Amino acid sequence: MPTILIVEDEQSIRDMLRFALHAAGYQTIEAADTHEARVRLAETVPELILLDWMLPSGSGIDLVRQIKKDELTADIPIIMLTARVEDEYKVKGLETGADDYITKPFSMRELLARIRVVLRRSSPESVEGSLQMGELVLNQQTQQVTCQGELLDLGPTEYRMLAFFMAHPERVYSRSQLLDRVWGRSVYVEERTVDVHIRRLRKTLEPFGQHHLIQTVRGAGYRFSQQY
Ligand code: CA
Repeated sequence: MPTILIVEDEQSIRDMLRFALHAAGYQTIEAADTHEARVRLAETVPELILLDWMLPSGSGIDLVRQIKKDELTADIPIIMLTARVEDEYKVKGLETGADDYITKPFSMRELLARIRVVLRRSSPESVEGSLQMGELVLNQQTQQVTCQGELLDLGPTEYRMLAFFMAHPERVYSRSQLLDRVWGRSVYVEERTVDVHIRRLRKTLEPFGQHHLIQTVRGAGYRFSQQY
């Protein structure tokens, strides 16, 4: 279930977006200005951001710049909501790193279509409801994981970690990055906790001969990869 951050100062538009996004099966978090958006982003890394251009606390463009500069949030796709029709603003938004824009007033149907396209582009399988790698299949709706057709007995942290790895394969993550992405930034956990859960996850995958998927990268962290 992808989470979408709505950054919009107009309550009525936020309400409308929340209602439509929930009906379409997304989870939402909300911010009324750029300051609040930063606070939300420090707590949760959403799958997508809907960002109003005109905000009382400063332009959405500055927020886009910050989001793209921060390694943790840099790959979150952003759709700008703008009332301005001038092309130069659209171009500026896209140049700064927004993935798409939609001009107000827009139809919810059009917005949902844009969201699907942007999400598909950013993580090919996350909207399909299941992630697959080799013989591992993770169903995001039921939160169940099977290996060679057999259901895995995973704790909630191991599930979230595996879901994160399967959505971001072939990339090395440090322990602190994994803490931020799997546990959330606002949670204080020691880095070696990551190792504990990695061990548990490997142990669960071992009977299926799949523990090699989680690789230790010396001095750097961990990587989820089929190449070894
Ligand atoms: Ca506004």
